[in-house]
Amino acid sequence: PPLILWFRRDLRLDDLPMLSAALATGRPLIPVFVLDPETEALGAAAKWRLGLGVAEFARRLEAAGSRLVLRRGAAAAVLLALVEETGAAGVMWSRLYDPAAKARDTGVKSALRARGLLGESHAGHLLHEPWTVATGQGGFYRVYTPYWRTVRGMDVPAPVPAPERLPAPARWPVSERLEDWRMGAAMRRGAAVVAAHVRVGEAAARVRLAEFLSGPVEGYDSARDLPAVAGTSRLSENLTYGEIGIRRVWHAAMAAFHRGAAGAETFLKELVWREFAYHLLHHSPHIAERNWKPEWDAFPWQGDGPQAEAWRRGMTGEPFVDAAMREMYVTGTMHNRGRMIVASYLTKHLMTHWKIGLDWFADCLVDWDPAANAMGWQWAAGSGPDAAPYFRIFNPATQVEKFDPKGAYRRRFIAEGQRAAGAEARAFFEAVPLSWRLDPARPYPARIVDLAEGRARALAAYAGRGGVA
Ligand code: FAD
Repeated sequence: PPLILWFRRDLRLDDLPMLSAALATGRPLIPVFVLDPETEALGAAAKWRLGLGVAEFARRLEAAGSRLVLRRGAAAAVLLALVEETGAAGVMWSRLYDPAAKARDTGVKSALRARGLLGESHAGHLLHEPWTVATGQGGFYRVYTPYWRTVRGMDVPAPVPAPERLPAPARWPVSERLEDWRMGAAMRRGAAVVAAHVRVGEAAARVRLAEFLSGPVEGYDSARDLPAVAGTSRLSENLTYGEIGIRRVWHAAMAAFHRGAAGAETFLKELVWREFAYHLLHHSPHIAERNWKPEWDAFPWQGDGPQAEAWRRGMTGEPFVDAAMREMYVTGTMHNRGRMIVASYLTKHLMTHWKIGLDWFADCLVDWDPAANAMGWQWAAGSGPDAAPYFRIFNPATQVEKFDPKGAYRRRFIAEGQRAAGAEARAFFEAVPLSWRLDPARPYPARIVDLAEGRARALAAYAGRGGVA
């Protein structure tokens, strides 16, 4: 009997432990992707981008003599029906660690096992399973640096290359059509703009990795902070859908480190930030929902309103903030420096609850990641583990002088006031909903908040709560 391979955020054939295990059984393999309610609930940009990834992965499988069977519905019901249809021995998948996925996968596993079928999960999304890294006391890490010191020397298994072909079943079950799922529906006009910036699939991800390690890694230590410079790997888009294996990336970066590439260690550390985010999400899943430090529940967070809306629209009048927000609509991602600035601005100068920002990022980022996004927001807000202290408030005006001294980033994304604005600055107005009524011919907006006043207000609220953190 065949074996069903349930693909989720592991759209690749290279460096995929679950595939190695499946091939070792010698059974025919039936790759499946399920559009389940958890996947339906993705933000607009992530869902659209996932649709592109699924299409590309289906082509990849066909080139390897296989197929991707598409089915829609609750995962457990769909998979059990497929097992019955195909007479399969069971299902294998790569583990995920966000609370919704864990609940779903546990249900699938017990449904399969209750019927005497195989339900087997494998590592593959991370370098280290979150429960395999523990402090001296046996607990989980709440601070990055000791976590890094522990994992930096831990063994990472070598990636196994993709097989040339996958053994196919004698008969293929029918598949739904991806077009019918309309995974890009909620992206509206944005899809046409962002499409120019995405790089979809395994081959594209491998090129990205090779390009980065053959040049930019050398200058990574300093260039990674400059949003106008293409100084980072941009692999987050591919890592989040598993279009490249993290072990593959780790070993390639280690090789660069051993040949003396200047920025390689910093890059390895960033990969470990991703691990750390998953470690935290696994051990304290509320990080994605509530203040990680409950003391922060008493803080007078502002709710949604016109200021938060101006932030979402990239119309705060604060150039660094607006450039970064607009970068997100045009490219589907935002430079890390921009993410830190816009998150600090929203949670401090506007005193708005970080969850409003987290949700907006989840809707707009093609590289949305449940762990990194939650950790990033709670870090910026001050409410998270190992967070920036609340009183350390990024000043977007001085940040701009430091990290965008010549204004290239601002000019790239803010059209207003420029006589001949570039394509990306103009594309912002194409990408956003018409209902926002944004117009590049109008003057650039005045600041919605005076930076000194916003800062003073935030600090007073913080002090009024006795310095909650
Ligand atoms: P590189 O600099 O090339 O780094 C390589 C890889 O390391 C990244 O692809 C990523 O997987 C990992 N990494 C780097 N920095 C971080 C970090 N701070 N935290 C966790 N992993 C990191 N990253 C996401 O992938 N998805 C998100 O939804 C996301 N939301 C964020 C929200 C906020 C408020 C903040 C401050 C950060 C967020 N990040 C998120 C982390 C970081 O900004 C991105 O991972 C990074 O900008 C991706 O660009 P890159 O691939 O070129 O990174």
